[in-house]
Amino acid sequence: MYNFTKITASIGPKSESRKVIRDMVAAGADVFRINFSHDTGDVQGHKIDLIRDVAAELGKPVGVIVDLQGPKHRIGDFETEEKYPLRVGGKFTFDDDPTPGNARRVYLPDTDVLKSLNVGDRILLNDGKIEMTVDSVTKHKVVATVVRGTEIWSRRGFNLPDTDVATSILTPKDRDDLEYAITKKPDYVAVSFVQRGADIAYVRELIAARTTHPIKIIAKIERPNAVARIEEIVSAADGIMIARGDLAVEVPFEEVPAISRKIIRVCRMMNKPVIMATQMMSSMVDAEFPTRAEISDVANAAYLRADSTMTSEETTIGINPVNVIDKMARILSYCDADTIANPYDWSRVDNTPQNDWSRSVSSMAYLNHAVAIIVFARDADAAVQISCRKPDIPIIAVCNDAVTANQLCLLRGVSSVYDEQLYGMRDGFNSARRFGIHNGKLVIVDDDKISLRTLD
Ligand code: PEP
Repeated sequence: MYNFTKITASIGPKSESRKVIRDMVAAGADVFRINFSHDTGDVQGHKIDLIRDVAAELGKPVGVIVDLQGPKHRIGDFETEEKYPLRVGGKFTFDDDPTPGNARRVYLPDTDVLKSLNVGDRILLNDGKIEMTVDSVTKHKVVATVVRGTEIWSRRGFNLPDTDVATSILTPKDRDDLEYAITKKPDYVAVSFVQRGADIAYVRELIAARTTHPIKIIAKIERPNAVARIEEIVSAADGIMIARGDLAVEVPFEEVPAISRKIIRVCRMMNKPVIMATQMMSSMVDAEFPTRAEISDVANAAYLRADSTMTSEETTIGINPVNVIDKMARILSYCDADTIANPYDWSRVDNTPQNDWSRSVSSMAYLNHAVAIIVFARDADAAVQISCRKPDIPIIAVCNDAVTANQLCLLRGVSSVYDEQLYGMRDGFNSARRFGIHNGKLVIVDDDKISLRTLD
């Protein structure tokens, strides 16, 4: 079965060996995600080296995403490591005094947050288990009322769903991580807690000032204000990750599926790849099979024609990362085949002027019963646009550039082939044969020339 929906696998302590990475690729992993929230520098760089070694050994393009932690806010330390009681209806203060906290107050290390909060804003701590509402804001402190939660303790992370935080999109740690990551030439950098298109433009400038390596940028959507500005962010980024972990804390959880569908539709319309992320198979941290609900979640991503699903802790700390990829690939390949057998009419999304060209490629393939589309990909653009029309036949991207071949691993339906010498029609035919296509009509896309050829 041809692999349409791609798999992005997070790498961590249980998967950072050459053997496990090789077995994950064999089981269906297309792209690897290195999460800089955990570890930094050479520890992470070593994982990128392993992935590149395995890809070279297998002669197969594989994508690498470096995921930056971003401005994840945390409260300061308390006087002891004990848990301190909270009372619903009681008051709690956040301030700029770095002395250890107690049952009435705690230090807020990020002073930008103090400046950004407004009366009535919610403060969600510890993945939303604690909720407070801001009563008053002065220069040095914010007083809030406890709405939910019974105890608080040191260094809890917090989310501010109602607040436009006037903070840089990159923390000092992110800047160091990015400096280091650039030396390892990742295919993508994922930016966390994006709030607006300008955040992406800023990171793009920073990267461009340091390297000519064409790193693409993925915006992680995990804040309500990012959802509100989704078109602006999709337009600024090269791809999107629906980061449902933090998103489901910051928006009412029942809204997450509708938001995800909307993001996938906007990405399709604007020709950008989209990854569905977080808790897709998380019961497999310690189980051999996914739950029924997880199977449906992965299936839903395929039916919505997301470009890629993603694994998180199930492949970083789980008992059997290769088994997770194997089970995910089984669900995706069955659902991809079903999607193709029972297509849905997407014309409302696809019939936009910016999609004229790729629509004509995909219509030509459909009307001529073509078995594959071959794209001579001088950069990723043409293949990205055609992939976003979601044709139900393989798109084979013939690349004379390794980075483009790796980046295209993320895209639905695209198989990339890289060879420096590869650049003629015969190479297109040979590439089709590599993916098991031996006869039938092929749509050939070479710059703006589109032609129909028969392979026999
Ligand atoms: C998420 O919040 O869903 C996510 C992917 O981000 P992280 O794993 O970095 O928290």
